[in-house]
Amino acid sequence: MSQPQSLQDWETLAASLHIDTGLFIDGGFVPALDGGSFDCISPRNGELLAVMARGQAADIDRAVASCNAAWADGRWALQAPRARMAVLQKWADLIEANANTLSVLESLDMGKPVMDMLNIDIPEVLKTIRYFAECIDKMEGAVTATDASAMHLITHEPLGVVGAITPWNYPMLMAVWKLAPILAAGNCVVLKPAEQAPLTCLQLAKLFVEAGGPSGVFNVVNGLGAEAGKALALHNDIQKITFTGSTAVGKLLMGYAGQSNMKRVALETGGKSPQIFMPDLYDLDAAIDRAIGGIYDNAGQVCNAGSRLLVHRSLHDRFVERFVARSDALYRMGDPLNPATSMGPLVSNMQKQNVLKRVKLAQEQGARLVLGTEAATPHAAGAYVPPTLLVGPRQDAAIVQEETFGPVTSIQAFDTEAEALEMANDSVYGLAASVWTADLKTAHRMVGALQAGVVWVNCFGDGDMTQPFGGYKQSGNSRDKYKDSLLSYMQTKSAWFNLA
Ligand code: NAD
Repeated sequence: MSQPQSLQDWETLAASLHIDTGLFIDGGFVPALDGGSFDCISPRNGELLAVMARGQAADIDRAVASCNAAWADGRWALQAPRARMAVLQKWADLIEANANTLSVLESLDMGKPVMDMLNIDIPEVLKTIRYFAECIDKMEGAVTATDASAMHLITHEPLGVVGAITPWNYPMLMAVWKLAPILAAGNCVVLKPAEQAPLTCLQLAKLFVEAGGPSGVFNVVNGLGAEAGKALALHNDIQKITFTGSTAVGKLLMGYAGQSNMKRVALETGGKSPQIFMPDLYDLDAAIDRAIGGIYDNAGQVCNAGSRLLVHRSLHDRFVERFVARSDALYRMGDPLNPATSMGPLVSNMQKQNVLKRVKLAQEQGARLVLGTEAATPHAAGAYVPPTLLVGPRQDAAIVQEETFGPVTSIQAFDTEAEALEMANDSVYGLAASVWTADLKTAHRMVGALQAGVVWVNCFGDGDMTQPFGGYKQSGNSRDKYKDSLLSYMQTKSAWFNLA
């Protein structure tokens, strides 16, 4: 597949796109029952991209009923495992074949650089689907040791209909982290994507059907969180709600489950990940380059973004100086359709204002702004925020304690390992952390002491599909990726046979 080479080529492709705007239910696009809509604005330039069907409770009812019909007649769950595997593999092939259009659509929709889509998001989407497809006929139950008068089988069965609610930072990838194991396990699913980035998930559903996935197995209802999202989470006919998004909304979902049918609730929520740079680390310059990537990739809109840099006092001044110089060299803010751009706009102008407000508050609370003043932007009405660094915030400052979800990080100095660990763990979050040290014993000790679901040693953000991804504390109660997540969309049945 040839790839557009220049900004102009990508703009030409963008201009030729047909954008689907309906809800995707029962294998096709339909308007919202009440005819309602919401605007999809591109953060690239502030222009209207599409007018989307706005799902409400009645549309969620329709989508869940469609899934329940598909579940009841077994058109997906009762297919032979390798037949389901073939559909998922074909689905991945079709996504790969459509990589250019999906990339440009996502870039326009949420501002991610088109080259990040091609080099990161799309390959990760494909890897995820193919990994879970491969797992389908590797899942096994057990025959336990019993007296000769009995036989005991433990089997795993799909749950039925699952609801998935996803965020805007990696619209396709975060959805696929849920969809691939949900579908591989034999379930049906209603997906409610983030209203800030509603376009590409519709294409995922369309391509699933094109790949041979039966109608009604995978439905998508776009709409607002407090409308479609809430209705899905409150629905009595779904067995589980799986969510990636903010901690505040995650807490609401637990309440909705309790108010309705006590459905299972899987949460992947916020983070405020510390990176600890010990005085004996191997290569300071290389570590700084990784720290920069750990916060400015995807313009900082990453749940595990390394947004708290804890640096040993002996390294501090050199760290700050080089971090500033290298950030300029490594991140080129610009039009997301320009192949030379490494940082696009944030998802929306509302998110831009939110991030700028937090930077201002950090300064008012005593931090020093050393990077991130005004920068040239490709489109005046776009949601661009440059790489930003604050030095020396207090431990109780909002910039240290609260998620920013933008290209903003802070540097704090520490003197001892114990102090670094105390600062790192002083958070309601526990998604990820990293330690940089040349000493294996130090690394091992600190990994044990860090309260985080994912800890990196001498790297940041590394991993593959075998890495369970999720958090401690208020960063969530679940794990995406890895084969265990397939089991989390199944239920265990114990069948005890009396053979006497
Ligand atoms: P958000 O919580 O505002 O929205 C996420 C989803 O929830 C959206 O689809 C939204 O429409 C829906 N929603 C909002 N209110 C709802 C309600 N009352 N009922 C049901 N659904 C509702 O989050 P966001 O701003 O889209 O995404 C950013 C957040 O996602 C950050 O906190 C980030 O850390 C988190 N995130 C976590 C992970 C992880 O794996 N832990 C990964 C990516 C993003």
